[in-house]
Amino acid sequence: MLFKNISLVDENFNIKKNMNLVTVDEVITYIGSEVPQEYNGEVYDGNNKVILPGFYNTHCHIPMTLLRGYGEGLPLQRWLFEKVFPFEARLSGEDCYWGTMHGAIELIKSGVASFTDMYFFIEDIIRAVEESGLKGNISHGSTFNPDIPDFYDLKAYQDPYRLLKIYNTKASGRIKIDASLHAEYTSNEAFVRQVAEFAKENNLIIHTHVSETLKEHEECKQRHGLTPFAYLNKCGLLDQPVVAAHCVWIEGEDFDIMKEKNVTSVHNISSNMKLGSGFAPIREMLDKGIRVGLGTDGASSNNNLNFMEEIHLASIINKGVNRDPEFLQPSQILRMATENGAISQGRFDAGKIRVGYKADLIVIDMDKPHLQPVFDVLANLVYSAQSEDICLSMIDGKLVYKDGEVLNIDVERTVFESNRIKDRILSEI
Ligand SMILES: [Zn+2]
Repeated sequence: MLFKNISLVDENFNIKKNMNLVTVDEVITYIGSEVPQEYNGEVYDGNNKVILPGFYNTHCHIPMTLLRGYGEGLPLQRWLFEKVFPFEARLSGEDCYWGTMHGAIELIKSGVASFTDMYFFIEDIIRAVEESGLKGNISHGSTFNPDIPDFYDLKAYQDPYRLLKIYNTKASGRIKIDASLHAEYTSNEAFVRQVAEFAKENNLIIHTHVSETLKEHEECKQRHGLTPFAYLNKCGLLDQPVVAAHCVWIEGEDFDIMKEKNVTSVHNISSNMKLGSGFAPIREMLDKGIRVGLGTDGASSNNNLNFMEEIHLASIINKGVNRDPEFLQPSQILRMATENGAISQGRFDAGKIRVGYKADLIVIDMDKPHLQPVFDVLANLVYSAQSEDICLSMIDGKLVYKDGEVLNIDVERTVFESNRIKDRILSEI
């Protein structure tokens, strides 16, 4: 496709006006001020529009769209044990397929090209992700089970091991299987070492939760005499690339460990605010040179998967908390949302607009009252734009969304199925 005469957010987050961008198959093949003469394919008129890289959501539990709003207002432990766990125990693979489709609608409508996920029934999740057109780093959360103490006897090992042989070798790389440790507080040392060993032997990225709440952070120090990061490092978990969700209560040498081990920290602003977990020290992380990505978390703790809302909230709340309007410029937050996320997923040829890179692109229609006048395009994108302003989304060179329509998903059917699943499970509980 040729995006003709369009404003473009380049890889240094500068705006280039009146540009032309061509995609062929999966990749960007041309960027320039002239229209390439030999081009005779489809043309998209970029007048009054801005093209930028698609977003990379670095922490999600996508089927939890099915639990949106269930058990609101309870304290964390009661919410989990009285509501979430009994509901999840009744989910089938087919249910997770529909929950994923439901989440995919929200991710695509808010500009996400690829997401990092942790849940179960991952084969069904992958089926939905492939049909939707999204890309994903999919993992099966693993927790220590006293009845099945060996990690290698769990589905959390067996499913990913079987699937990584299929997906991690595919040239397209759309689906990647990651390893996952749910968290320090749902495992023990032998178990963590097994997960680390599995990841190392198969060269996998590890997706985990770290220091989300003060309680879990302090209890880890009591249990092991170490912070969660120091403990996970001791167990060898950080020897592979790690995507660590939350990182709210990290302290002291944790910053050095994260930097040294090249950990990606995921800032889950909506989830952390809504669950009252606390506020992640983003400024200190950035000062240390730690890579930070943005994540929606699951829809049961957010309560939507609107990635543009994450960008907006993370941007303004960090300024407020630091009492510094200069902190987190639009270019910085957009880098977290794009390039940093792509790197964290091992997608080194994606996340920016560059010839030869994957054509993960979104187009914003600037012809809206709340996006005019324009002094600074990036400022309008971060502080004023809504996900409804996205008028086109392309992933790996294929259109997935155009003018309000999610092209690969039957939205009405999906929402119907989600409600049917909700009604069935509520009647069983
Ligand atoms: Zn999570």
